[in-house]
Amino acid sequence: MSDDCLFCKIINGDIPADIVKQTESVCAFRDINPQANTHVLIIPKKHIASTRELNNENIEYLSKMAFLANQISEEEGINRNGYRWVINTGDDGGQTVDHIHLHLIGGRQMHWPPG
Ligand code: 5GP
Ligand code: ZN
Repeated sequence: MSDDCLFCKIINGDIPADIVKQTESVCAFRDINPQANTHVLIIPKKHIASTRELNNENIEYLSKMAFLANQISEEEGINRNGYRWVINTGDDGGQTVDHIHLHLIGGRQMHWPPG
């Protein structure tokens, strides 16, 4: 874990969050600035800064994040109509929190291309 990481603090309970679901290895909580009716962030309970830090040792976290996202999309009732997964990486990707997170966004029509 990283001492100065916002999402590590949420995992540790040092900063409150609206936690939707969690397992031993991943955690999902509602985005503080939601962009749709459902906007959940899914993160590993291990500090991985971004997709750039994924490797042979930690890549399983990504499938665990995906699995949790699928469970939540069913529970949120957005599975049938569809939704969007987003992972922003680095400055050009628009990443603002350096702890890898999957955005699960749904409940409205999405548009393409993204901004
Ligand atoms: P990024 O821009 O890095 O892809 O996404 C970071 C997300 O974290 C943003 O959507 C932002 O609204 C959300 N966020 C930032 N600070 C907090 C916080 O303290 N609590 C929660 N729940 N979400 C946050
Ligand atoms: Zn972290």
